[in-house]
Amino acid sequence: MTANILLVEDEPAIQELLVFNVTQCGYRAIQALDAASAMSHISHALPDLILLDWMLPGSSGIELARRLRADQRTRNVPIIMLTARNDERDKVLGLESGADDYITKPFSPRELMARIRAVLRRRTPQMSDETVSAGGLELSPTTHRVSANGAMIDLGPTEFRLLHFFMTHVERVYSRTQLLDQIWGDHVFVEERTVDVHIRRLRQALEPSGLEGMVQTVRGSGYRFSCN
Ligand code: CA
Repeated sequence: MTANILLVEDEPAIQELLVFNVTQCGYRAIQALDAASAMSHISHALPDLILLDWMLPGSSGIELARRLRADQRTRNVPIIMLTARNDERDKVLGLESGADDYITKPFSPRELMARIRAVLRRRTPQMSDETVSAGGLELSPTTHRVSANGAMIDLGPTEFRLLHFFMTHVERVYSRTQLLDQIWGDHVFVEERTVDVHIRRLRQALEPSGLEGMVQTVRGSGYRFSCN
């Protein structure tokens, strides 16, 4: 699964450098030159990580980070702040505004990429290529294979992503909107009942191994993947 990284930076040279490095690492780069344009991208599709410049024309990076953290939908999107100032107080302020990490310009592309990888691994485990196991199921993102108690299961691409997300977020309840954001990445053009269709297909695929009960409906809230 390719991570979408939103680059919010008003300086064209740095924006270009970010795009180059992010793309080199196999991520998809989405560009925004200010907070308003960033918000418009975010309302269209939730990115997997935001690289956010502190000093932006109009609304600052700090303001944008606070705004994203205050909204239920965007609360958990990882944010790395970029700043030209290397001041301990700024660092504290940046982290208090909700950023996951902080990097000072000029930065080395290698360091930046290492930070991006670390934050993604921590915040979005479904982006990792590591094999995950939960309650008798084993899923390998590299080979795209899923097995239940050793027997292979055939899954469509959406069911695969859905199961990968569930297996890396067990016991938590997700609304249909949250699942659309996480699995489809674009909640605007997909109807909520699409989620139900794919949940049903996922359950059907798990049925022969008797594990369909792991995908639970939580009335009035959404769905939960449970190993109990
Ligand atoms: Ca700037």
